[in-house]
Amino acid sequence: MRDLKGHPELCAINTATLGFTARIDKVIDAVARHGFGGIAPWRREVEGQDIKAIARQIRDAKLKVTGYCRSSFIPATTVEEFRANVAANKKAVADAAILGAESFVMVVGGLAQGSKDLTAARRQVAEATAELLAHGKAHGVKIALEPLHPVYAADRSCLSTIDEALDLCDRLVPDGEDMLGICLDVYHIWWDPALARAIERARGRITGFHVCDWLRVTKDVLNDRGMMGDGVIDIPAIRGMVEKAHYDGLVEVEIFSAADWWTRPIEDTLRVCKERLATVC
Ligand code: ZN
Repeated sequence: MRDLKGHPELCAINTATLGFTARIDKVIDAVARHGFGGIAPWRREVEGQDIKAIARQIRDAKLKVTGYCRSSFIPATTVEEFRANVAANKKAVADAAILGAESFVMVVGGLAQGSKDLTAARRQVAEATAELLAHGKAHGVKIALEPLHPVYAADRSCLSTIDEALDLCDRLVPDGEDMLGICLDVYHIWWDPALARAIERARGRITGFHVCDWLRVTKDVLNDRGMMGDGVIDIPAIRGMVEKAHYDGLVEVEIFSAADWWTRPIEDTLRVCKERLATVC
């Protein structure tokens, strides 16, 4: 397993970690100044801005763009709404290409408003992913399916397990070509009793790896994630499995923490991220 100590260039910062409190140009500067090797920006920071200028600044700072976050939710109750969701994602994939992103991260969405039909939601996700994969190929951007913890199945992701994501990859790209992969986030996968087997099955198809921690007492499953080392996840064990499965990309910190880390100065958060990556990841 790679040694992260003294190697922040093997690590990346997902900008959500900094709570969107600073402008993207300031965030790019700060992430580069701390020596990180990559950044994962969000659409809310990029859309409506001069995307080429943002891309240039990131390139000049010698940062990789590990992923562009994230897809609009896909499931819909009408065809028009479904088409609009796919169209929004196609536009975002094109922006990901301008940014030079290694992947477009798909958080697929849960049930459509008012629906109880999880099977229909999953069918729509498969259909949209096939379309976005073709679009990603045309733009040279990988599509990264991120399975989310089942607690989000209703409102954020009907794609809940690594195996489910890999089944979808197998269906859409039976020859295993590499423009479709999966993004693994310790927050979403740590609890899985079949984790080692599932990660082994993902060999060669892992396009991203996110770290944070699961606080034993979690007050809000969306916005109360912990800093690495403050919770119950055995992050080195999971990173070991992921690297054994041939993942050699950056280790990306992604912490949603409205009441804690988002209230701190971004310099402090970046400093602690760097220290924890070196010591507990
Ligand atoms: Zn994530």
